[in-house]
Amino acid sequence: MSSSGPDDLGEFISRVVDQQGRDPLDLLQILHQVQDRYGYVSAEASERVAREFGVPLGQVRGAVEFYAFLHSSPRGRYEILLSDSITDHMLGKQSLMEHLCHRLGVSAGETRADGLVSVGNASCTGMCDQGPAALINGNAATNLNPERIDEIADLIEAREPLSDWPAKFFQVRNNIRRKDSLLGSALDEGSALWAVLEHGEETVLREITRSGLRGLGGAGFKTGTKWALCRETSSPERYVVCNADEGEPGTFKDRVLLQRDPDRIFEGMTVCARIVGAQEGYLYLRSEYRHMLASLQSVLRQRRKAGLLGERILGMQGFSFDIDVRLGAGAYVCGEESALIESLEGKRGVARVRPPFPVTHGFRNKPTVVNNVETFVAAAMIAVRGADWFAAMGTDESKGTKLLSVSGDCERPGIYEYPYGVTIRQVLEDCGAENTLAVQVAGAAGHCLSESEFDRRIAFEDVPTGGSFMVFNRERDMLDMARNFAHFFAHESCGFCTPCRVGTSLMKNLVDKVCAGNGTPSDLKEIRNLGAVMRGASQCGLGATAPNAIFDTLDKFSEVYQRRLKSTGFEPAFDLEAASGRGRA
Ligand code: SF4
Repeated sequence: MSSSGPDDLGEFISRVVDQQGRDPLDLLQILHQVQDRYGYVSAEASERVAREFGVPLGQVRGAVEFYAFLHSSPRGRYEILLSDSITDHMLGKQSLMEHLCHRLGVSAGETRADGLVSVGNASCTGMCDQGPAALINGNAATNLNPERIDEIADLIEAREPLSDWPAKFFQVRNNIRRKDSLLGSALDEGSALWAVLEHGEETVLREITRSGLRGLGGAGFKTGTKWALCRETSSPERYVVCNADEGEPGTFKDRVLLQRDPDRIFEGMTVCARIVGAQEGYLYLRSEYRHMLASLQSVLRQRRKAGLLGERILGMQGFSFDIDVRLGAGAYVCGEESALIESLEGKRGVARVRPPFPVTHGFRNKPTVVNNVETFVAAAMIAVRGADWFAAMGTDESKGTKLLSVSGDCERPGIYEYPYGVTIRQVLEDCGAENTLAVQVAGAAGHCLSESEFDRRIAFEDVPTGGSFMVFNRERDMLDMARNFAHFFAHESCGFCTPCRVGTSLMKNLVDKVCAGNGTPSDLKEIRNLGAVMRGASQCGLGATAPNAIFDTLDKFSEVYQRRLKSTGFEPAFDLEAASGRGRA
């Protein structure tokens, strides 16, 4: 971080804007660079960026305010964000936060007066298998405990540069516990691309369709259909986007694929590009995974050198495609494909009204295929091994395998790959979970399953999931989970539509009221009414799914709510007697 003055600021912004090519769609990437250099995006920096790009100042300020990882005021030289996922809490996050704040003499959410350090929370950092975790100036620190917190506090007080900190703080393990056809196999570089050239795009598209591959981020849209729709459009300009914004609490399997298998991801994207006729692609990387940015860019450089990206791929005239990695800036809603595209275009990540869908009107309003990391890996494998190989695994409606990110109360958290159709019970057995009370599948937006449902199967036709699998044993209070998710959604709502903006906030207040022991039966009814409105009237999936965990826990673990209620009679939310008493005093 530089402390250079305003003249330097102007020169710097002009230079990076020139380097980037003066395309307003690069706004977010420029703001990252400004923040990297100056520690925050000042009002003056916003004005200069707006001027250089020729965009309204409101667009620049709107972006800075929208994204959690962009700041309009200075932060500490060291910024520590503790992961606020429920599984981090289960591992003692709150007491670590208190210990850290005490050691550094700072409050959570604040910057110390001398500007040395800021401490705050981050939504799930994607390290639930090795929590409690934190981001320290964007670097993932794992397996925190009081001793490590002491060491971190000492290093900060000694102003030790982060590059000199012991490597043990920043070790991120893959924790692969079970491999199947995807993790248990490899692909020779370029083999999927040779397969497309050898068999032709139509044949490979037919194989992808016949394989039954569906979007593995959780939505489950048929991949072959999506690619065919894009291919059939009349536009000469099309795009391929890889959604690496896995922000669903408890999901970290894309982190492992990005770290271990970037070539297969890029290969899958390039196969897609050849089939749909795209020349540009983007991998949208969540800001929490910024520590992988340099290695991903290095793999892209190697692929260009090897003739697997760029002009004349594999020496083939007319086969040109390149990929750029674009960094998100901390917004869960950007996992939704249309919000992701808005973010990719340098705007606030607000979900678009659909239809039209991105496949016809996506990035730059052009036909765009958006698929998840795992989907592109599977597509690359199908291009080489064929539809029959893939379709032989799984169930009728869910072919192939699924990577699960297992965390919470179990002996062996980590990545488990299974053919679709595996039971919840089998996963629990394999990960060493005992005395299990509930499993939250598919993250905060997913569903909470009680013991009577452990014979249900992971599959689109039964329990669909993007990969999150969080285990809760009988010593847990499921209301803690409901409360954590209620806070998560209130924080992550993009604020565009009223049912979600107001609904998530009211829902959080109601759940807090119950947790504090001040709730009444009428509050529970209000939670139901509010949730129904959010489900029916929200603009995108975030608002529509926000009540899921609360409804599930109300239905399946109603006793945890009942025992916290203040009384079984009516209690107004506003205590008139107490308020007027304060006024009389
Ligand atoms: Fe934004 Fe929530 Fe509305 Fe989606 S539902 S557009 S996240 S306010």
